[in-house]
Amino acid sequence: MMEVRHLKKKFQENTVLEDINLSFKNEDVTCILGPSGAGKSTFLRCLNLLEKPTEGEILYEGRNLLDNQFDIRQLREEVGMVFQHFNLFPLKTAAENIMLAPRLVKKMGKKEARKCAETMLAKVGLADKADAMPSSLSGGQQQRIAIARALAMQPKMILFDEPTSALDPELVGDVLSVMRNLADEGMSMIIVTHEMNFAKEVADRIVFMADGRIIEDSAPGQFFSAPKTERAKTFLSRFL
Ligand code: ATP
Ligand code: MG
Repeated sequence: MMEVRHLKKKFQENTVLEDINLSFKNEDVTCILGPSGAGKSTFLRCLNLLEKPTEGEILYEGRNLLDNQFDIRQLREEVGMVFQHFNLFPLKTAAENIMLAPRLVKKMGKKEARKCAETMLAKVGLADKADAMPSSLSGGQQQRIAIARALAMQPKMILFDEPTSALDPELVGDVLSVMRNLADEGMSMIIVTHEMNFAKEVADRIVFMADGRIIEDSAPGQFFSAPKTERAKTFLSRFL
């Protein structure tokens, strides 16, 4: 559904992504691993055009995102994004956060949007938090609301950028278990993470990046038991 060809991204003279070629299939879960500064976030941000690639092509269902004629709104409707720092609107309740995009973008009526929000809250295990303000919730709960907000748009794919990195360790499990359920339901996901056990168990595929390049692209069994490069071996040794 998404294909990246010869993607390059520069910030001024600094080349951050160099000749990235990847394609992502429907219903696949891809975990992107790699050291800090590898370009993982920049890559995800290019996929939904939060950053504009310097060169290359990104095809979404066969159409080039970088064509002037491409309708960015369609991409935003169909590809959700969950960030490290939740980015909830602090003055809106959980349900209001979730209702916002369906109301504005899908022109959903208020009642229907509220119902949708309640369904999504139940899906992430927070049925009782519809009227809670974000500040009254734990980081893990806020992140699950951010996931519910992405789900409310009925996306075809969700991009996650280190969704559990800002959380206290005891709150990580609940968020990962929501993501695991989504994977089981066949949601297409691209997940930048440092949660190695999650990647090993849930990913269909591991993409290992360093210095703006893809160093390995393997099945998890292969990557974790027999990485092909010294770079990946060194990286993994830090998690043992
Ligand atoms: P981390 O694991 O720390 O999140 P990352 O793999 O996500 O790292 P990126 O955030 O994509 O790495 O950054 C890759 C490189 O691009 C870094 O050298 C960073 O300084 C640079 N960079 C990222 N965003 C910008 C920007 N908006 N302007 C200039 N340079 C940037
Ligand atoms: Mg990052």
